Amino acid sequence: MTTTLSPAPSVIEVTPPLYPCGCGDPDCALTVDEAAGWFPGDDPVPHVTVLKYVAEELGLLATCRFFDLHVERSIARFTEVAEAYAPRIAAASIVESVNTWHGCPEALCGGNA
Ligand SMILES: [Zn+2]
Ligand SMILES: [Zn+2]
Repeated sequence: MTTTLSPAPSVIEVTPPLYPCGCGDPDCALTVDEAAGWFPGDDPVPHVTVLKYVAEELGLLATCRFFDLHVERSIARFTEVAEAYAPRIAAASIVESVNTWHGCPEALCGGNA
């Protein structure tokens, strides 16, 4: 499956959060279903929109190329990086990106590590 808008696999496995929320609520973590709810319908989700949602979920005010690369790596788990994605793929990519974000390796990038 190499085309951008190929049907999403029926089961999409995302990596569990590396840093689970400390609030004690096991339902606190963002799920693929939740993220998919942001994209009703079958319209392709633009790459920039995926970036925007990941940044919002992580509470990042500014992002850098490390962030962009991180999101691209997460997307690459499910499909090829492209200009837009099927909603389910976009949702999985957002959750994967959020769950596996370590923070930026460069101290100058905003201190979100
Ligand atoms: Zn929480
Ligand atoms: Zn950075």
